Amino acid sequence: MRDNYDLLVIGGGPGGAVAARTAATAGYSVLLVEKRPAIGAPVRCAEGIGKEALAEFIKPDERWISAEVSQAELVAPDGVSMKIGSELAGSKVGYILDRKFFDRELVWQAAEAGADVRVKTRASAPIMADGVVKGAVLDVCGSKKKVHADLTIAADGVESKFSRWCGIDTTIPVREIMSSAQYLMTDIDVDPITTVFYFGTKIAPEGYLWIFPKGERTANVGIGISGKKSGPGHRAKDYLDRFVSDKFPNGKTIECVVGGVSVCRPLDTTVMDGLMIIGDAARVVDPMTGGGIFNAMFTGRLAVQVGTKALAEGSCTKEALLPYDKQWRESPMGRTIARNWHIKEKFITLSDAKLNAVIHSAKALDLKDFSVFSLVKEIIKRNPLLLADLAGLMTKIG
Ligand SMILES: Cc1cc2nc3c(=O)[nH]c(=O)nc-3n(C[C@H](O)[C@H](O)[C@H](O)COP(=O)(O)OP(=O)(O)OC[C@H]3O[C@@H](n4cnc5c(N)ncnc54)[C@H](O)[C@@H]3O)c2cc1C
Repeated sequence: MRDNYDLLVIGGGPGGAVAARTAATAGYSVLLVEKRPAIGAPVRCAEGIGKEALAEFIKPDERWISAEVSQAELVAPDGVSMKIGSELAGSKVGYILDRKFFDRELVWQAAEAGADVRVKTRASAPIMADGVVKGAVLDVCGSKKKVHADLTIAADGVESKFSRWCGIDTTIPVREIMSSAQYLMTDIDVDPITTVFYFGTKIAPEGYLWIFPKGERTANVGIGISGKKSGPGHRAKDYLDRFVSDKFPNGKTIECVVGGVSVCRPLDTTVMDGLMIIGDAARVVDPMTGGGIFNAMFTGRLAVQVGTKALAEGSCTKEALLPYDKQWRESPMGRTIARNWHIKEKFITLSDAKLNAVIHSAKALDLKDFSVFSLVKEIIKRNPLLLADLAGLMTKIG
């Protein structure tokens, strides 16, 4: 590890790995640091990603794909379910990854392209000079080391602290942190090509429960509920345990993870002098689905494309880095996040009876004919009682 690099990337998840790979491939010196002892573990993810989204960044490989899924099933609070085929189910249809190996593959690719990589190396403070980020102080197995960089990329995930230490407000309101728990279960009856989502206040208040198959008789079974609904006896894990004992009484849990997912709006700013923020650290998770793997890779690549241009021009000021902030907000990803935040805010207010009405109506439609906007309109037409709930939403997503 040197004392100086062109770029320093903090965090070895998909966002940081793609950022480091992009920078190294373009010929810049880059160091990626990961505080955990191993890339990719523990996995805090249901591991679903759309096929096209993935292929934009890496050639699919069976070594890190657990399952291929081609439809999604939505289950209403009253148990009525509807299936959505691959042409409509979007990012939830595609692959279920094995992120232990997927994350490692991305980091290996970064290393092969020339990036330096250090695990068990935690960024513990920024190096600042006159308000400009100039690298980080690293904790390397108990000792401290200063690494200077012309550009630092905060890819440190949902629990990100680095940008806050640099002076950026990264607070997430408690109600917009999904409190999550997930079991990797085996010896259970699952449809290996279908992801399943359960809704309802008794199952997952202000959230949903998922079953993502990972091959025959194995699946990620997880839940996310609003942080404000979590408390003793009704934490995410309590809801999950109740569901699992009812649905999979003989299943075996071979891994258990808990974690948070932000479903808030993205940070107000994702750049400052010498610093760019990407992925979960920038809060660019889809607020409806909680999906963020693609968004992390997308922002990782875009940040480096803009950042290296600024480096080549000799100055990584906030102004020079701002095109990154503007471009991801104006991209389809940014626009989807903005739209889905409004939809999420509305849907968490719906009672079980109204959620039932929405799913019953959607089940009766040929969804191929509808955009999100026209679908909401059609649902209102079929359920005039939902007008008061959904009319305001139309003006925001139209
Ligand atoms: C239960 C659950 C289910 C999910 N399911 C899905 C899904 O099915 N599909 C999907 O697309 N998304 C899903 N997500 C979201 C997805 O996991 C994240 O959006 C994605 O991992 C974001 O990538 P990232 O690179 O931004 O951050 P991360 O993958 O979180 O990586 C950040 C890395 O930074 C490291 N780090 C943190 N601080 C420091 C520091 N100071 N120094 C050095 N390293 C540091 C961390 O250890 C971590 O490895 C889920 C999340 C959860 C919690």
